[in-house]
Amino acid sequence: TSFGFKEVPEEEKTRMVGDVFKSVASKYDLMNDIMSGGLHRLWKDRLVSKLRPFPGMQHLDVAGGTGDVAFRIVDAIYTREQRSFRGMLANTEAKDETRVYVCDINPAMLEVGQKRALDRGLAECPALVWMQGDAEALSFEDGSVDGYTIAFGIRNVTHIEKALKEAHRVLKRGGRFLCLELSHVQFPIFKDMYDLYSFSVIPSIGELVAGDRHSYQYLVESIRRFPSQEKFAKMIADAGFVDVEYENFVGGVVAIHSGFKY
Ligand code: SAM
Repeated sequence: TSFGFKEVPEEEKTRMVGDVFKSVASKYDLMNDIMSGGLHRLWKDRLVSKLRPFPGMQHLDVAGGTGDVAFRIVDAIYTREQRSFRGMLANTEAKDETRVYVCDINPAMLEVGQKRALDRGLAECPALVWMQGDAEALSFEDGSVDGYTIAFGIRNVTHIEKALKEAHRVLKRGGRFLCLELSHVQFPIFKDMYDLYSFSVIPSIGELVAGDRHSYQYLVESIRRFPSQEKFAKMIADAGFVDVEYENFVGGVVAIHSGFKY
């Protein structure tokens, strides 16, 4: 049945679907920029600099649909390599082994990420692997990745403990777990201001810019429910990680938690 609509040829449909995702992606980026004043870019840079990516690395970025973290990792490896002639000679072969797996539960987000890879000239990059998967039940072998990152993702996972156990399972010994997440503001006056901003300003921006107040209300509530920095650090340690620490940004608006598999 055509439901009164004109039959759309296959190619045109692909283009139309592409356009829809383009608009979702641009809204997503725009919203992140507006809500964080562009700071999310710096926080993601910091996450990747803590990771210290290296040629030949096997890395898993969970909840990474948009590719924001994965692109930075790939850039870091390839650019550093170009800067260092010795590194280039030593790592030419290893570079080809580099894999950055972008794992996300939502295929629509993965499509957004792949579209962005295309725009950045990274569509053919052999290091980038896009895969659908659940943080709570990863399809990776035990001890198979050097690094694990999750940016603004763990808050959405139903059973955080399970996701942490999975991160620990798939990491190699010596591998690092890094999590960037919206967290809890530590200073009383700033906390009041931040509460006001998040409860009234964010849902309004969501409505105005993305036409979706409800999702942004949910976002604010999910930040509230997320464990404190200390409690989350304890959960990471309970999953088996050692040398667990965290770094706050903007007084705790976001935090990067880190741990190693021993
Ligand atoms: N990491 C990206 C960034 O920082 O821009 C995307 C973050 S986005 C706010 C959260 C992502 O988590 C979504 O793409 C969503 O599909 C994904 N997600 C939610 N639950 C997940 C799960 N259980 N396993 C894997 N991904 C999940």
